Amino acid sequence: MNPDELVEIALEVDGEAAEAVVELFNRCNGGDWVEDSAAGEASGGGAVLESTGYDNLGDPVAGEYKTVVKTYLKPGPRGRRIQRKIEEGLWHLGLLYPMPEPVVRPVREEDWAHAWKRHYMPMRIGRRVLLTPAWEKPEPLPGDLVVRLEPGMAFGTGLHPTTRLCVAALEEYVQPGDSFLDIGTGSGVLSIVAAKLGAAPVWATDIDPLAVRAARENASRNEIALSPEVLNIEQGSIPAGQAGRFQVIAANILAEVLVGLFDGTYETVSLAEPLAPGGLLILSGILEEKSEMVLSAAARHGLQEVGRRQEADWVALAVRRENAD
Ligand code: SAH
Repeated sequence: MNPDELVEIALEVDGEAAEAVVELFNRCNGGDWVEDSAAGEASGGGAVLESTGYDNLGDPVAGEYKTVVKTYLKPGPRGRRIQRKIEEGLWHLGLLYPMPEPVVRPVREEDWAHAWKRHYMPMRIGRRVLLTPAWEKPEPLPGDLVVRLEPGMAFGTGLHPTTRLCVAALEEYVQPGDSFLDIGTGSGVLSIVAAKLGAAPVWATDIDPLAVRAARENASRNEIALSPEVLNIEQGSIPAGQAGRFQVIAANILAEVLVGLFDGTYETVSLAEPLAPGGLLILSGILEEKSEMVLSAAARHGLQEVGRRQEADWVALAVRRENAD
């Protein structure tokens, strides 16, 4: 095999199976590309997700919406070892979920670096948000909020249903002048949308330093000032010392992480603490069958469901304090 080629392993899966495959790819082939100079080999890059089956308004077409999970290996003995581990892992997952045969094929390295761009085009979300890759020139309608993104390695291109559900919820709930907190900001997409809807100040956090960097770059790309009064992006999770501060909070992370954030598993502060009296918390990244688990955690902190959106298997919930008007 040509040394500048990579091996692509791709699998078309849905919902929980997709999550399990992503986890397997990240575990076996995770992290950044690590060059092993002694052996002249490298591997890494984790899992890449591509969703297809949208119409040109960005809505999923019934029966055609699909998630393809991919990972890339360098040729050589290390790559082959990782490939064997992945194939074993997929065999085990095949006992738990319906799992198609992985498609293994060589691709040119530069194709890998740009592969995700092919599927990433201007996309309308909600009523007036037009998400667009930084390199495209979209044609906005009057009143559109154009959000330019170059996601880098960070999640949040708008291709994922969980992001789209959150953007639609922000359009419904964010009022000009609301303070907004975005936990797990990824590419910064939700904070940028909230700022364009008039929220201020906007605070964003992510535990991943690459996400923080990508989010800051995307903020500048959208001409949003990085300052405590406008948009503040920090590495971390739930900010401490901000009790009752935010009118709207969004957290698009997985169900298990959300429950942990409510119950103080990772942080001393609960997800409910920074919420202003009467404030609204948008929870996303939740597979349908896990929504009850997240709602019970919210209820333990006095928060009740006031809104729900769904796309494919993914649910976004809006919760508020019981006694709020
Ligand atoms: N908000 C973006 C990205 C969501 S992906 C969107 O809606 O598209 C989830 C992000 O949460 C990832 O960037 C991940 O690094 C971050 N994350 C995971 N666990 C977290 C935690 N405990 N606290 C803060 N961020 C977390």
